[in-house]
Amino acid sequence: MLKYAEAPDVKMLVDEIIDRLDLFHVVPQFVYCYRSTGSKSILTIARIHGLGRIWQEALRKPTAYIIEVISERYDKLSKEEKEKTMIHELLHIPKKFSGGFRPHKGYIDRKLIERLHKVLLEKRLS
Ligand SMILES: [Zn+2]
Repeated sequence: MLKYAEAPDVKMLVDEIIDRLDLFHVVPQFVYCYRSTGSKSILTIARIHGLGRIWQEALRKPTAYIIEVISERYDKLSKEEKEKTMIHELLHIPKKFSGGFRPHKGYIDRKLIERLHKVLLEKRLS
């Protein structure tokens, strides 16, 4: 059975990345972070969920995203790999912050993640 728990450690990292990488289109208070355990998925480290427009309408809620980390895989990554994983998930959020997603193709690749990760490390030092 899947279990979910709020993940304050992930939230702290995500907020830091949003701030340091100047992701102005991402609204930090509407990005929630959860850790799941008991996932059968063996390849997934993390995933992002969006509250789509029709749900926003029906529930009368603003746009929100949830970044879920799969405890069995995420927790054993190095600090650096965790950071890159969160950069990857944040890159799925479109400029409109609409509740939808940007695809990998054209928006997310290893090179971009490496570059942004370097920026993150440099900003930490400055
Ligand atoms: Zn992805």
